[in-house]
Amino acid sequence: MHLSDMDSATIAVWGGEETPLAFGAAQVPIVQSAPFAYPDEDSWMDAALHRSDGHIYSRNTNPTVHVFEEKMRLLEGGEAATSFSSGMAAISNSLFALLRPGQRVVSIRDSYGGTSKLFLDFLPGMGIDVTLVETSDADALDAAIAAGCDLVYLETPTNPTLKILDLARATATARKAGAITIVDNTFSTPINQRPLHLGADLVVHSATKFLGGHDDALGGALIGRADLVRRVFEYREITGATLAAFPAYMLLRGLKTLSLRVKRQNQTAFSISHMLREHPAVTQVFYPGLEDHPGHAVAARQMAGFGGVLSFAVNGDFNAVKRVLDGLKLVHRAASLGSVNTLAGPPATTSHVECTAEQRAELGIPEGLIRYSCGVEDPADLMDDLNSALAKV
Ligand SMILES: *Cc1c(COP(=O)(O)O)cnc(C)c1O
Repeated sequence: MHLSDMDSATIAVWGGEETPLAFGAAQVPIVQSAPFAYPDEDSWMDAALHRSDGHIYSRNTNPTVHVFEEKMRLLEGGEAATSFSSGMAAISNSLFALLRPGQRVVSIRDSYGGTSKLFLDFLPGMGIDVTLVETSDADALDAAIAAGCDLVYLETPTNPTLKILDLARATATARKAGAITIVDNTFSTPINQRPLHLGADLVVHSATKFLGGHDDALGGALIGRADLVRRVFEYREITGATLAAFPAYMLLRGLKTLSLRVKRQNQTAFSISHMLREHPAVTQVFYPGLEDHPGHAVAARQMAGFGGVLSFAVNGDFNAVKRVLDGLKLVHRAASLGSVNTLAGPPATTSHVECTAEQRAELGIPEGLIRYSCGVEDPADLMDDLNSALAKV
């Protein structure tokens, strides 16, 4: 049996690690070298012209980084993969490399805050036409794509209200329109969702979140069609938004436990969302695993697990949010998600820090909202912590 046919848990451990590793190491070494040295001009030339395997300069490729890329390629089931210094580097380099002035992008209003900034500010400034549709309106998305576009950019579940898009439906519409589809799979990870299997051309990741999983390294990845990944890779070689060997090593270390962590976080978020729904101080819970969530049926079809992130609105204004966050002992108040530590925060300082209060209101984000990213702690301890914090509302 081929590694690519095995379970994600196995790929996460063994994927991309061609043995023997340098010096007989049992784990991927950090190759902390900017250029690579060759014994003679001929072997150097062969590597430079890709006639033989070999690295030339770490802005372009590096052995440690290459293992990360290959592991991600196998996990998402794509033809090719490349990597970046952060998730936003992955997203911005992909969009800038693949789009030309006069072309049209269709996306959703609930993209990650940094991505929204690209759509609302930087891309229009470069003469690229951007249409953002209401995220939960699948008919409007179909219509906007069918009206003619070059690139469709999607994210599901979305930040911070966990809206769900039907990926198979949107990618089919995009294909008919002759558009490339990119999906940000940061929230789901390949353990819960594989967009390439649902018709997407490319998947982007912030590896900073669940993939690394320990809040100690920034990184990004792009996986999918080889011709498109190549174009973005050539652009990134020049922008220099390269993943360095040390964070690549940290991400590789984190990836080994990806399946264990994500499955635990799925279960914890599922239990907590059901508990919060019954709590008198909570007015709304946003989690696709809840049967009355508007995207539940689609999520159940396209996801293997509903994810480790949920949001809930507390009864009250921003002061109530502050009281709850102050009362939580088992969280970091931090602008990230997908860590082994539970993290919580309001959209104003996490996903939508780039937006004004009016823009958040327009996106339907309640001011009483708290995003809660489950860590790998004992679920009963997290529930006790939430109950005592909510008693303060
Ligand atoms: C965090 C995040 C990003 C940006 O990633 P960075 O690594 O912080 O640059 C993009 N998309 C989503 C969904 C994210 O959560």
